[in-house]
Amino acid sequence: MALKSILLHPDPRLKATAAPVTDFDKTLARLADDMLETMYDAPGIGLAAPQVGVGKRLLVMDCVKEENSAPRPMVLINPEVTWVSEERNTYEEGCLSIPDQYAEVERPAEVEVSWLDLAGAQQTERFGGLWATCVQHEIDHLNGKLFIDYLKPLKRQMITRKMVKLKREKARA
Ligand SMILES: [Zn+2]
Repeated sequence: MALKSILLHPDPRLKATAAPVTDFDKTLARLADDMLETMYDAPGIGLAAPQVGVGKRLLVMDCVKEENSAPRPMVLINPEVTWVSEERNTYEEGCLSIPDQYAEVERPAEVEVSWLDLAGAQQTERFGGLWATCVQHEIDHLNGKLFIDYLKPLKRQMITRKMVKLKREKARA
């Protein structure tokens, strides 16, 4: 396994629509492993392939927060939201591609998602709570959408300006 470097906003690769996965091979399994390792290392609760520069519809997540609970690493390939609840929920979201910036985003409180696992088998699950927010945030990444796209333009521009500055400082370091 190997850590991947995470792209930082603004980056055109984070704005692109990812392509469906068609090959369920060792390369895909290795990518999923590397993404999970990168996510846990960050640390984060979700990571989508475009964030590591791979334009494929693949995401990993683990929203187990309790200290003594077993981890639940999940790999979702070609995920589709098949149902959303009318009830909505607001969470303060962050993103590994937009470090240290947080903002409240309202989304459906529960969602049903279908996806393919690493063996190419179809899975379906209903997610609630933090899992529901996380899976919607990560699926957005596959469509070139970031959580800041839900914010008012002024707030979004402020965050983007901070990120441009951060990237400039990192490039100089
Ligand atoms: Zn994100």
